[in-house]
Amino acid sequence: MKDSLLGLSEFKILEGIQENENDILIRIETNSNPFYCPHCGRPAKFYRHGNRKQVILDLPIRFKRVGLQLNRRRYKCRECGSTFWERLRSVEEKRSMTKRLLKSIEERSMSKTFVEVAESVGVDEKTIRNIFKDYASLKEREYHFETPKWLGIDEIYIIRKPRLILSNVERRTIFDIKPNRNKETVIQRLTEIGNRHCIEYVTMDMWKPYKDAVNIVLPHAKVVIDKFHVVRMANQALGSVRKSLKANMSAKKRRTLLRERFILLKRKHDLNERDSFLLETWLGNLPDLKEAYELKEQFYWIWDAPDSYEARDRYRYWRQLCVSSNCKDAYKDLIKAVDNWQDEIFNYFDKRLTNAYTESINSIIRQVERMGRGYSFDALRAKILFNENLHKKRKPLFNSSTFNKAMLCDTFNWHDVTDHNIAGNYGVDFSTLIKELEKGDL
Ligand SMILES: [Zn+2]
Repeated sequence: MKDSLLGLSEFKILEGIQENENDILIRIETNSNPFYCPHCGRPAKFYRHGNRKQVILDLPIRFKRVGLQLNRRRYKCRECGSTFWERLRSVEEKRSMTKRLLKSIEERSMSKTFVEVAESVGVDEKTIRNIFKDYASLKEREYHFETPKWLGIDEIYIIRKPRLILSNVERRTIFDIKPNRNKETVIQRLTEIGNRHCIEYVTMDMWKPYKDAVNIVLPHAKVVIDKFHVVRMANQALGSVRKSLKANMSAKKRRTLLRERFILLKRKHDLNERDSFLLETWLGNLPDLKEAYELKEQFYWIWDAPDSYEARDRYRYWRQLCVSSNCKDAYKDLIKAVDNWQDEIFNYFDKRLTNAYTESINSIIRQVERMGRGYSFDALRAKILFNENLHKKRKPLFNSSTFNKAMLCDTFNWHDVTDHNIAGNYGVDFSTLIKELEKGDL
């Protein structure tokens, strides 16, 4: 009876369970002798050939850590003469722990810190880190996310370095993260995608290595620059004009303008009455700022165009205004960027990212950048990519035959349904990941 409490049928519990404040030690031994010799494969003709005490860690009981003290036997085969330690079905030999404990550590290390998991089990952090590492590389070989039709390429700072992040724009999921954003890395990763011909659009920032890589590996795909990256440059230009005006201002005025700079960056039609008034006051007193501000607003107006033809017209008009203005220097980087990336920038009108997409990805980028809990890049990447709870899956098709089967057969098993009708995995769901990041669970 008491043996079944352990739930490991190959062991029986011996007398003398010890318990202290944190830990429980249970003495056990195996129930039966081996049936076959692991060396020659012949059936049981063994004699005992010594033993040793071995502690095997197991799942906690009543929040106390559990050690199973096994009196482990060694046998000698009468047929071939070889000696061997008894084999244990439920034990992971490499870690001296039960397989069920290992499984629990693997799962929990995905969403808890390694220190937390280590303390609850009673091993050091390094062991947890190693288990996690093995588990992550297993998952790396195992996992397969569906190829996006519309791929997003962004970068995300993890441990002070820009890393490549690939996403499925339509499904709002993360497809992969790589340690750097070099051209070779992008080429390599894109080449690994088996059915990459399915990728029709690639949205990215104005970063030449991305574009080159996509043109090489996915020559059929259309490159699209996200509007966000372009209009951001107009705000930067306006910001540089504001800063250049500081020299001729009193300290007090300078501070006020710094505090109120957000009014300048917002769209005019989004301002409330008070902010509109403040804006008019600033622009009335600072003609250069007014000019830079109008250029910023007019640049945004390009993006309100109904199609790319109209947008290109608006841009030509805007460009003329800009180069004949006093702030042409502040806007020269923007002009250069649009001139160099024209086709890709105006492709935006064919394939627009939604605000929700851009906001989600920016939120993920900010939150992950903020996290510095002492993980290595590989660990953080694995925690994001391989945590099944974060995955967005496609449900299998409705399959009526399974219902008939259920009615005919008492021992119907739902596993049969999914085995025949495998669901797709789109990758890490943005909104679930954001929720976990906000809670600090990673
Ligand atoms: Zn043998």
